[in-house]
Amino acid sequence: MNDTTPGDGIGTGDGTRAVRAGLPEPVKHEPTLPGPVFAAHFHLPGDPTGPYTYGRDENPTWTLLEQAIGSLEAPGADDVETLVFASGMAAISSVLFSQLRSGDAAVLPNDGYQALPLVRAQLEAYGIEVRTAPTGADAQLEVLDGAKLLWIESPSNPGLDVCDIRRLVEAAHAQGALVAVDNTLATPLGQRPLELGADFVVASGTKQLTGHGDILLGYVAGRGEPMTAVRRWRKIVGAIPGPMEAWLAHRSIATLQLRVERQNATALKVAEALRSHPDVTGLRYPGLPDDPSHKIAAQQMRRFGCVVSFVLPGRERADRFLDALRLVDDATSFGGVRSTAERRGRWGGDDVPEGFIRLSVGAEDPEDLVADLLRALDESAR
Ligand SMILES: *Cc1c(COP(=O)(O)O)cnc(C)c1O
Repeated sequence: MNDTTPGDGIGTGDGTRAVRAGLPEPVKHEPTLPGPVFAAHFHLPGDPTGPYTYGRDENPTWTLLEQAIGSLEAPGADDVETLVFASGMAAISSVLFSQLRSGDAAVLPNDGYQALPLVRAQLEAYGIEVRTAPTGADAQLEVLDGAKLLWIESPSNPGLDVCDIRRLVEAAHAQGALVAVDNTLATPLGQRPLELGADFVVASGTKQLTGHGDILLGYVAGRGEPMTAVRRWRKIVGAIPGPMEAWLAHRSIATLQLRVERQNATALKVAEALRSHPDVTGLRYPGLPDDPSHKIAAQQMRRFGCVVSFVLPGRERADRFLDALRLVDDATSFGGVRSTAERRGRWGGDDVPEGFIRLSVGAEDPEDLVADLLRALDESAR
């Protein structure tokens, strides 16, 4: 595993970087990670200058979390600004709605996160042209002409297709378009889109970044003028995380490398175990050497995620399988320390077969998990 990162004083290994990310300089008798600051307003005599004026604009607990996320998404880069949001969707909307104007065109993936069609409808209602194309085969290139913003989700959720981010960024920049990459599935330890040339990295911190299935969070990181507009959007929409959530997120990031390493390694083992089962088809995991995503994934990713997807023969079989699992909760979302799986077609938004399963691999012992999955596959066949 290539764990080398530019030096910025918090080590070069991902584990060291994760445990130290965003910690303030040591102060005698102060905690290592200061507790959440609950404040709607701050003492502010005289001219209202920052850093802390009003709780919707800034909060010291966010500042530390933003420094932590920024140091993982863009190690060693001191010109990158990170902003945290109440959820991944708040972060996504803040980029789209702060950058696009009536008359602009934007390119979205048609196989991305299931709320993107809702976003599309809202953008169109504001007079923004929205074009979509699949993530795989870099198909978004074909509809890029004249667009102001390209939205990439790689690996895509739930289909796990991958596009060549550098190639798309080059094409977009050549015609003056900005590029945002949804990095939710990979996490910053799996992929660093800003280093691949993207203007924005955006993610839901609800998933593997925080990893316990107990908070919602989002973030945007980028540089310069475009980020000023994102900051203004956060201020006017007020889609801000509570201090408690921000603090829990920061605490959770300390174990990011441990969780990612364990979950992703187990995901590969699970994928290898599932592929030999006769009832499993359409198995996808970008870490499998013969997966259609693997070649490009290996060029631009350092780790391949904790999500495995596959198809069982029909809806009833898939439901019986989910029912038979003991160590895997039937629940949506992904990235948590407890494994989850769901029949994705139940939501109706994704273009997937009825028996399509999205499995999020947790931190259980791999042998236990593989045994549970294979047992449930066999039991549900009857
Ligand atoms: C979950 C998810 C989101 C939305 O994040 P929330 O925190 O639920 O708002 C966006 N993109 C991807 C890829 C996701 O998986």
